[in-house]
Amino acid sequence: MSSPQLENCPSCGALYLRDQIDCCLDCYRENEAAFKKVDAFLKNPEHRNASIEDVNAFTGVSVNKVVEFLKEGRIFAADYPLLGYPCAHCETLISRQLLCEGCQRTFRNEVQAILNDAQQTETVDKRQLANAQYWKMKK
Ligand SMILES: [Zn+2]
Ligand SMILES: [Zn+2]
Repeated sequence: MSSPQLENCPSCGALYLRDQIDCCLDCYRENEAAFKKVDAFLKNPEHRNASIEDVNAFTGVSVNKVVEFLKEGRIFAADYPLLGYPCAHCETLISRQLLCEGCQRTFRNEVQAILNDAQQTETVDKRQLANAQYWKMKK
């Protein structure tokens, strides 16, 4: 049986026992209260086209917090066409992850290119290494 660990709350820095939740109890309660406000606001069919700024203005819950709920999947962004946050790269409105689909594709391609490069360099290095060993043996 593992005992709960003493950790710093990622939101407020207070020490807490990490057991079932990822932050201290105060932050957890605050978080839940914020979620209930946002959820109640969005449940109103008239608020279907609310933007994240609208939610913030009406509920007082910070934009960052609403983004967190979106990323966690607690708010189903698909139900709210205007609810989203800007892509970290090009500012297209998104409701999942950090980048829009276009930027994600570009990013993945770039990473792949770098990996390919690294692999090639490694092969070159290995060949150089093999040559070095060959030279040693020759002497
Ligand atoms: Zn806390
Ligand atoms: Zn983008």
